[in-house]
Amino acid sequence: MKLLVVGSVAFDAIETPFGKTDKILGGAATYISLTSSILNVESGIVSVVGGDFPQKDLDMLTDRGINIEGLEIVKDGKTFFWSGKYHNDLNSRDTLVTEVNVLENFEPKIPESMQDAEILLLGNLHPGVQLSVLEKMEARPKLVILDTMNFWMDTAWDLLVKIIGKTDVITINDEEARQLTGEYSLVKAAKKIHKMGPQFVIIKKGEHGALLFGDDKIFAIPALPLEEVFDPTGAGDTFAGGFAAYLAKKENFSFETMKSALIVGSAMASFAVEKFGTDRLQEVTQSEMTTRIQDFKELTAFEVEV
Ligand code: AMP
Repeated sequence: MKLLVVGSVAFDAIETPFGKTDKILGGAATYISLTSSILNVESGIVSVVGGDFPQKDLDMLTDRGINIEGLEIVKDGKTFFWSGKYHNDLNSRDTLVTEVNVLENFEPKIPESMQDAEILLLGNLHPGVQLSVLEKMEARPKLVILDTMNFWMDTAWDLLVKIIGKTDVITINDEEARQLTGEYSLVKAAKKIHKMGPQFVIIKKGEHGALLFGDDKIFAIPALPLEEVFDPTGAGDTFAGGFAAYLAKKENFSFETMKSALIVGSAMASFAVEKFGTDRLQEVTQSEMTTRIQDFKELTAFEVEV
């Protein structure tokens, strides 16, 4: 199955307790499609960059088999820029700068070659753009996955609620789920989100793992305990990318398959945080991926007699 990815393609400047970067490659769609390529799943990006976006980064994406026909280049425009600074515990961060630039007036176009994508992953971007992409698909994809953030709850509530209503799976972090529903209990929050539309609700809890709610069942996974976390940027996008790509590979959207997809998403996110930006994702090998998923299995497998 093919995966169509909508989301930012960006420059990020990141500061963590371990160091600082100038403008480096970032963006939700970048993390998602790089993760799909590691899983050998065909993906295509719908997004926009400016004339300042380096050819070498475009080449890197195409070399990995990512379809960038839907990545518009506005020659006289500037690429979306985000800058953030992490606190010492790496669990929270402050956004220092968001320059929307070419994303401000972005009108997404879906290339003919991606119209038959069975899975649509609406990565972090203005909910109006996410809606417009869904409307421009000639046939509704078999599965629509939405990733969002608190920024859109504060600035585009109505459109956000509308796109949530058209979504099959939502991935959202714990604080955002609370903000969206006004419920502190994540179980109650997930129930309210189900009522808004999505049949499956995934609540991400950073270094504490993730929860999957659906079919009246709950599944929980931890995050892989890592000795060193270098830069958490993109962990959520990588998680969503791994999750979606695994479902595309298995061509199955059952709760059971989603449980495995959650593990794959978490394993992929554990790579993303090991280096700045997308550096680690660009070098992950198939065998490293298999080993990490195995580590995950061992971490979570146990037998108990009562
Ligand atoms: P995450 O750490 O998973 O929240 O994702 C970080 C990525 O999201 C960075 O690479 C940023 O470029 C991108 N990003 C940050 N803010 C926004 C925004 N308002 N719209 C779209 N992408 C964003």
